[in-house]
Amino acid sequence: MQKILIIHTGGTISMEEAADGRIIETNEHPLTEIEQLKQFSIEEKQLFHLPSPHMTLDHMLVLTQYIEKQMATAKYNGIVITHGTDTLEETAFFVDLTVNASIPIIFTGAMRPSNKIGSDALYNLFCALRVASDPKSAYRGVLVVMNDEIHTAQHVTKTSTSNVATFQSPVFGPVGFVTKLAIHFHQKMDQTTHYPVTTWTKNVVLLKTYAGMSDELLQTISSQHVHGIIVEALGQGNVPPAIVPALQRFISEGITVVIVSRCFKGVVQPVYDYAGGGRALVKDGVIFANYLNGPKARLKLLLLLENNYDHEAIVEAFHD
Ligand code: ASP
Repeated sequence: MQKILIIHTGGTISMEEAADGRIIETNEHPLTEIEQLKQFSIEEKQLFHLPSPHMTLDHMLVLTQYIEKQMATAKYNGIVITHGTDTLEETAFFVDLTVNASIPIIFTGAMRPSNKIGSDALYNLFCALRVASDPKSAYRGVLVVMNDEIHTAQHVTKTSTSNVATFQSPVFGPVGFVTKLAIHFHQKMDQTTHYPVTTWTKNVVLLKTYAGMSDELLQTISSQHVHGIIVEALGQGNVPPAIVPALQRFISEGITVVIVSRCFKGVVQPVYDYAGGGRALVKDGVIFANYLNGPKARLKLLLLLENNYDHEAIVEAFHD
């Protein structure tokens, strides 16, 4: 029997609904006592008990260090990480970029607490354990298993506030799915480049653009505290002209500026050549982040800066 380590970090999957409708933290119930999970050989670790909006870069670091330590023991055939769904995509992407794993690493969570009618908590965990137990799931990067679908940490995002089908990969779709009898993969994955990190010294912030945006907020940003800025731009990567001088100032002060799109789908590309257009921004030294969303581009830029990548190397890394 495959031996699986479950690392709990918190979220709705570890919560219950009270009689008055509030969703609250529970006293942990050992999963090994749940009848449906007895077919797996499980060990559990409660690493954190956090709602996922409480997750920080330091928690992510603790998690990756814990995973690496456990992998070094060679005791496990797979790892399942339970996580709140709000920031699950960020922690999963961070683990994907930092851990070079030879066993499946699967994230899962739940949209409905375990005692609610139609809860997806136990079911998602059960599916995640099945995917983690299948040797086919190795060497595919970190995966996210929810609602019978398998997504890569790289592309998945939370798309609905409350629907159980919330996790989707808008550009590429799921890479596999879970049926009653089998685990199916229908896409091959590229190998992820890994970026080691042991401590945080850099700060990267995320800004969203909108019609008629002024540079008011950008005036408050200084290179003393910020090393990188992710700009969630409009469409294919264009910004309101009023913020261009501030972006130019950031670049002249050594702050790295990276463009993603506020659109739900698609890649950014510097094609428009007007004031604030992507073509002009690239001439100014702005970098385009291909298909990543804002929170994921932020994590990647942080890792690149911590590894002292220069401008050219960052451009290259965001083309991956
Ligand atoms: N607010 C919860 C969290 O992310 C939502 C969930 O787990 O689905 O911790």
